[in-house]
Amino acid sequence: MTVSDFRVRFAPSPTGHLHLGGARTALFNFLFARHHKGTFILRIEDTDRERSTQDSIQAIFDGLEWLSIDWDEGPFFQSKRLGMYQNTADRLLAEGKAYRCFCSPEDLELRRQEAVAKGQPPKYDGRCRTRTDNPGSPFVIRFKNPDTPEIVVSDLIRGNMRFNGNLLDDWVIIRSDGFPTYNFAVVVDDIDMKITHVIRGDDHINNTPRQITLFDALGAPLPRFAHIPMIHGADRAKLSKRHGATSVMAYRDMGYLPEALVNYIARLGWSHKDQEIFSRQELIDYFDLDKVGSSPAIFNPEKLLWLNAQYIRNAPSQDLAERVKFFLKPVNNPIDYIPPDTRPDLPRIVEEWKSRSRTLLELADAIHPFLDQEFTFSPEVLSKQLTQDNIPLLQAFLDQFEHTAEWNKPSLEHIFHQTGTRFELKLSQLAQPLRAALTGQHISPGIYDVLLLLGSRESIRRIKRAILIAGGQT
Ligand code: GLU
Repeated sequence: MTVSDFRVRFAPSPTGHLHLGGARTALFNFLFARHHKGTFILRIEDTDRERSTQDSIQAIFDGLEWLSIDWDEGPFFQSKRLGMYQNTADRLLAEGKAYRCFCSPEDLELRRQEAVAKGQPPKYDGRCRTRTDNPGSPFVIRFKNPDTPEIVVSDLIRGNMRFNGNLLDDWVIIRSDGFPTYNFAVVVDDIDMKITHVIRGDDHINNTPRQITLFDALGAPLPRFAHIPMIHGADRAKLSKRHGATSVMAYRDMGYLPEALVNYIARLGWSHKDQEIFSRQELIDYFDLDKVGSSPAIFNPEKLLWLNAQYIRNAPSQDLAERVKFFLKPVNNPIDYIPPDTRPDLPRIVEEWKSRSRTLLELADAIHPFLDQEFTFSPEVLSKQLTQDNIPLLQAFLDQFEHTAEWNKPSLEHIFHQTGTRFELKLSQLAQPLRAALTGQHISPGIYDVLLLLGSRESIRRIKRAILIAGGQT
């Protein structure tokens, strides 16, 4: 494939967390750039001085880094490019396409209320357009909105959208503090950065007509627009806190793998046949805007969890062992008296457990008893398995384990067979109390694997401890 001239950007305003919607916009831009071998630019739109924060900038970097969404140019900060916006505004002033407006905020508000009372659209009445004096008071710079009855936005996802140009007014491009407004800075930057495709959330659709008139006034070719549909919750309302976590980093803290989250958000609004699981390379190979739908994507936390489970199951155990460390609780009493050559190492334990864990947190909870001699028993295990009735069975296992010379699968199978015959129980019935005694949980990998991982000494110690606890229960 040849290197294309396509240039796209992710242009977040740093006013909060990087949320799922923002991450998806970043991902779509990234995938589009990688697919077409174009250029992906990161631009931080921090001209809203009241709402932009350093923490939010950091949150954007952290989120993108965690998701491995990397960019080719930038980060550019709009707050460091004020000179360019001012120069462009000066050019528009000189060409008679913009003017200084000295109307005070109070006057504007008064006139706005009057217009509303008369049932007119509350737009600026253009009174400073023809003004020639300079009262010396603070001013804003307004764009002289051209008389275009209809503005057509030709969108790669939504097709042609028609806007009534008469509804636009002479909007502010530079505020009285010298800072550009959002619509102005976006267009100046998109021109300067030679953006060919503007891929962003469709909450920006209403800004696009304004931006198009400005591109025209500046004599710049229009980029292609692609407005991606919003993400909604199952109740069809725009995704918000009440649908669960919306910040990307909250998913890291809940034990999601970034690959799973990337896979999931890629599918929010985009599809490729009925495939659900995509490697990063497949996403790059298959992604294009023609497969992005125009109806809102529905966020489904269960599906994300399912996908995460698939990724955990298929991840190399060595790698998962590294990642799960972040989630492991402090260990009270580590299993360190087992001779090092038989001590279960983390990747081996993870290998046994990963197909049963949907998140790294669940994985950490499941393997905790393997690292900690003083693990606690779940209430369910205590009431259902560590009962007085089960003591004879546990005792029978204990006696045989203490007297077996070998600790391997055949010898364990033999013990289970004998015990099963004696108690007239099936393997699954035998295994439950023992599993509870050994791991504190009612789900675990195969019981032989658990016994072999723990080794005979630790298994015996645990059964004794469980018998004591069961004996103490009323
Ligand atoms: N800064 C805008 C935002 O965070 C996006 C601007 C754009 O993509 O044109 O919503």
